[in-house]
Amino acid sequence: MQLPREVIIGKGVLRCVVEVVQRLGLSGSALIIAGQTSCEIAGKKIRDMLGQAGTSVDTLLVENATIKDVVMIEERMKAWRPRVLIGVGGGTKIDVAKLSSSRQGIPFVSVPTTASHDGIASPVAAVKGLNKPYSVMAQSPMAIVADTDIIIRSDYRFTASGCGDLVSKFTSVRDWELAYKVKNEYYGEYAASLALMSARLITKNAEAIKPGAEEGLRLVLEALISCGVAMSIAGSSKPCSGSEHLFSHSLDLVQSNGSLHGEQCGVGTIMMAYLFDIDWKGIKDTLQKTGSPTTAEELGVEPESIITALVQACTIRPERYTILNTKQLDYTSAKKLAKVTGIIP
Ligand SMILES: [Zn+2]
Repeated sequence: MQLPREVIIGKGVLRCVVEVVQRLGLSGSALIIAGQTSCEIAGKKIRDMLGQAGTSVDTLLVENATIKDVVMIEERMKAWRPRVLIGVGGGTKIDVAKLSSSRQGIPFVSVPTTASHDGIASPVAAVKGLNKPYSVMAQSPMAIVADTDIIIRSDYRFTASGCGDLVSKFTSVRDWELAYKVKNEYYGEYAASLALMSARLITKNAEAIKPGAEEGLRLVLEALISCGVAMSIAGSSKPCSGSEHLFSHSLDLVQSNGSLHGEQCGVGTIMMAYLFDIDWKGIKDTLQKTGSPTTAEELGVEPESIITALVQACTIRPERYTILNTKQLDYTSAKKLAKVTGIIP
């Protein structure tokens, strides 16, 4: 089990990156991975602060999350062995930093600038070009520094997407349980409970999660980080990624239109909850309260794409047993499912 050593969440905590790096014994040299925007709003500040504290810092800007970007970062690390890699940004920057640092055996510190999904704290990374449209094992961040002053200024859509990724634990945990019962797979009740607790907390406090609300944002961040820890405890993404994630990955292949991971997972959760015969209306209600999409139209995808994504979802990751294996959706039953849950008209 590989767990984060330090988690710091709050207003203005970006400056803590320096002490965290010192406390972990990683001062001396650091490589910052950021995007153009995240470099402006956080990366440069970290570079300056670390520089003043005597750590030599190099910054590498990446714009995508492909295996090419991972290899490029690895080349930089090989040429100049930094003691720590600091990933600054939303999903993609964190993902490539996590995977490349893991492959090079260098500790990784996560500095999220959005609260869009649980990858900010998980040991898995989603990278394109690996011939796998889903996340692969990398390493857990050594530390997570989430400055709410910065994250609250990001587009609220990202936080709403984070809520979609969080409610998906209602069905991913069920899928994990199912795999345990049917396939006798390893199932960890502690990790499952931790993931489920995050989804329940979001449901309970959905009204507090809105644009500009610091308390709500903090809750989303804590819940996302707890999910990351649940995956670390489980040693896989299973507690946090089930049939609803397969639907999202499948939709990426069917109609990639720029809707966010968490947004798609939220919509998937409504439908998978219906299949599990659990409170899908309650899940929909939570998503609506937090401003996350609940229909194909809100996702900006065609109804046909939803149906095709549903039918193909079980082929994305055949080794992962979920409710989709039990239900075996065909075109007619998939259409019925999307209609009855109000995802398509
Ligand atoms: Zn996710």
